[in-house]
Amino acid sequence: MNNKISIAAITVGMFAAGSAFAQDAEIATWSGFRKGAASFTFDDGAPSHVSDAGPMFKKYGYKGTFNLVYNWNPNWSGFQGLADEGHEIASHSNSHGNNMSGEEASSKNNIKGKINQKYGIITVAYPNCNVPNESAVLQNYIVGRICNGSWQGMSDNMGKDGPSNWAKVPAIMTGSEGQLKSTNDFTGQMQKVVQSNGWVAFLTHGFQGKSNGSATYSPTDINAIDGALKWAQQNDKDIWVAPMGFVAMYIKERNASKAEASTSGGNITVKLTHNIKDNISDYDYPLSLRVKYSGSTANVTQAGAKLESKIDGGYVYFDAVPNAGDIVIAGEGGSGPSPESSSSSVAESSSSKTAKSSSSRSNPWGRSSSSGTNPWEQFISSSSGPDAIEDIAFTNQHFSVYRSSDNYIVVGGAQGMPITVYNHMGQVVRVTRGLGFEQKVYSGAKGAYIVRVGNKTFKVSL
Ligand SMILES: [Zn+2]
Repeated sequence: MNNKISIAAITVGMFAAGSAFAQDAEIATWSGFRKGAASFTFDDGAPSHVSDAGPMFKKYGYKGTFNLVYNWNPNWSGFQGLADEGHEIASHSNSHGNNMSGEEASSKNNIKGKINQKYGIITVAYPNCNVPNESAVLQNYIVGRICNGSWQGMSDNMGKDGPSNWAKVPAIMTGSEGQLKSTNDFTGQMQKVVQSNGWVAFLTHGFQGKSNGSATYSPTDINAIDGALKWAQQNDKDIWVAPMGFVAMYIKERNASKAEASTSGGNITVKLTHNIKDNISDYDYPLSLRVKYSGSTANVTQAGAKLESKIDGGYVYFDAVPNAGDIVIAGEGGSGPSPESSSSSVAESSSSKTAKSSSSRSNPWGRSSSSGTNPWEQFISSSSGPDAIEDIAFTNQHFSVYRSSDNYIVVGGAQGMPITVYNHMGQVVRVTRGLGFEQKVYSGAKGAYIVRVGNKTFKVSL
């Protein structure tokens, strides 16, 4: 309590010009203020996970968790491709032995050597459903996944705070040997967690009639999952479909974070912080927040980078990363948080697609000394040659930048990273921040654009 008071006092001091007062910033139970969460997990590294599940998830815009057995030498490049699209790749041991055969740490490191992804290897699914050394699990992973909770005397569905033991996260088995076989079986479980504000996870191996490699146990009708994802998409305002590790990060961050808001001079400043300490995760998954707000427009930024926001029912809604700097909510015409020049900063509605010509915005992050330089010159000098790909500008293990079929510039897997789009004149046409996967960041006139994500620069043509 003393800490909290002293932080508030400092905040008041910093904004002494106005009459600062504390107000509530509310962290959503689930991302996007949805009512429940569902995670689809897949074991044993089946070829069909790459060839069939990946495209199916892509069709609906959702991501799953794929648990690989290192010694079974799965299609590493195929699974790296899934990681690049924002799916979670996780451990299912080295050898699939009982009780993990002591492979808690070694399988994590082995798979980490094969798969690069933003959050690392943070979850494990136990082979044969039996729980290994729990402390070894929790030293290496934020989730240890069992099979059906009911086998362990637990419920299959979890509450909003997850399992009672993070080394025993339940997932309901699907397929011929499992409880869930039809689309209705899946949607029934998702409807339950929407009603209870809880979380449900599913455990699938291979698919009926597909190429399953070693994943021969309990094949599932892939059409049942297709129907489940379709239902989820139709009910996306209520159900959050996300990989197991991401949901676990969200829960841990939500329960550990403070969101303290203060008002001064027409701006609201929110400090979103936690002090979770372990060696496994930075716990930097974006949390969804809302703050009471009476304005009709808002410019929301974190550490100077623009966040997507919406105003609804007397609140402003946005996603922000804990411990990533002050969040500032400025009304229309407010001075905004531009670190360079408040006089050149004009609040811009999130729907605005108008080009901005202010050159002072070309380096809105204050991270490099390139302010004022033409980003095209920078791009040409830093690129290895004129062979930049047109449609798929760049894809690596961390994020992707490309043009969608409906002609948007799409950035994926860049959570928390500043994103700037420049037109062919070098003018800034969009400033935002990576929120989730595969967000549409810009659509506009035909031509070439430069997209800067963090300190990397890419070229995309619309
Ligand atoms: Zn298995």
